[in-house]
Amino acid sequence: MHSIAIHGGAGTLPRAEMTPDREAAYRTGLEAALDAGYAVLDRGGSSVHAVATAVRILEDDPLFNAGRGAVLTHEATVELDASIMDGEHLAAGAIAGVWHVRNPIELARAVMEHSPHVMLIGAGAEEFALARGLTLVPNDYFKTETRKAQLRRVLVGDTRPANELSALGTVGAVARDRAGNLAAATSTGGMTAKRYGRVGDTPIVGAGTYADNKYCAVSATGHGEYFIRVAVAHDICARVAYGGISLAAAADAVVMDRLAKMGGEGGIIAIDAAGQVVTSFNSEGMFRGACSSDGKREVAIYRDR
Ligand code: ASP
Repeated sequence: MHSIAIHGGAGTLPRAEMTPDREAAYRTGLEAALDAGYAVLDRGGSSVHAVATAVRILEDDPLFNAGRGAVLTHEATVELDASIMDGEHLAAGAIAGVWHVRNPIELARAVMEHSPHVMLIGAGAEEFALARGLTLVPNDYFKTETRKAQLRRVLVGDTRPANELSALGTVGAVARDRAGNLAAATSTGGMTAKRYGRVGDTPIVGAGTYADNKYCAVSATGHGEYFIRVAVAHDICARVAYGGISLAAAADAVVMDRLAKMGGEGGIIAIDAAGQVVTSFNSEGMFRGACSSDGKREVAIYRDR
C-alpha cells in the first residue's frame, strides 16, 4: 500500500475562534498538499519526493508556520528550520536558522542528496542554497500581518493560551511509496518570540523527524524544547523496534504519556512499514490529513473532525 500523511501543526485555534471561513481555508491548504504528495506516490514517485512536495506546498501557504507565514522571533525576524529523512538508506538532511531560503525543505533535501553532511546552519546553509541554485528571498517575504500581530500580543504579555499565541503551525509529511520505502519531512518557523538563534526539534533528526523502512517514519509538531529532550521521533521508532509493539501503541506511549507528563504539548503523524497511518496528539487539535491506495482520504483538525 502506498500512503501519505501530512500535518499543519498542533495547537490549532481554540474551537470557539475557528470560524467556518477560517476552517475552510485551512482544509483547502491541507488538501492541496495532501493531494499533490499522494499524486507523486500514485505515479510511482519516491516517498522522499512525495513528502518534499507536500511540505513545499504548506511552506508556500501563509496560513501555516513554515516558509511564508512563519512565526516571528523576538526581534521580528523569521528564522527557519527543516529536515528530511530517507528511511531506505537512513540518509538525512537538515538546516537551521535560515533567513532567506524560500523553501527550507528543498535546502534540507539538497543537504541530504548533494553534500556529505547532515546539518547546515545559518550563513553556511544559505551559501549552500545559493550554490545549489535554490530561490532566495528577502526576510520580509516570510512575514504576514497575522504573525506580526501575534508577536505584538506576546510582547505586551498577553495571557491568552500559549497555543493560540505561539500558533504551533509547523508542517510535516510522512509517506510510504510503491517500492515500500518510507520518508519523513518537517519544516517550521519555530515558536513566536523565540530567541534569535533558537533551534527547535524540527531540524533535529530523531526529535522532530525520523524514518527507518523497517519500522516507521515520524514527523512531529509541538513545543520543541520538550520534543528534543524526549527524542520523540526516534523514541517512537525505537519502541516499535525493540518493544515489538504497534506503531499506534508506541506513538501514544510517547505523546500521550511521556511527553504529556512533562508538559510537552503537541503531536505526531507517523506511518508504519506496511503504510498504515497513525496520528497522536495531546493538544486540542492538530491540522492533519491522510490518503492511501486503499481508498482512504481524510482531513481533520480536532479530535472528532
Ligand atoms: N516544533 C516546533 C518548534 O519547536 C514548533 C511547532 O511544532 O509548531 O520549533
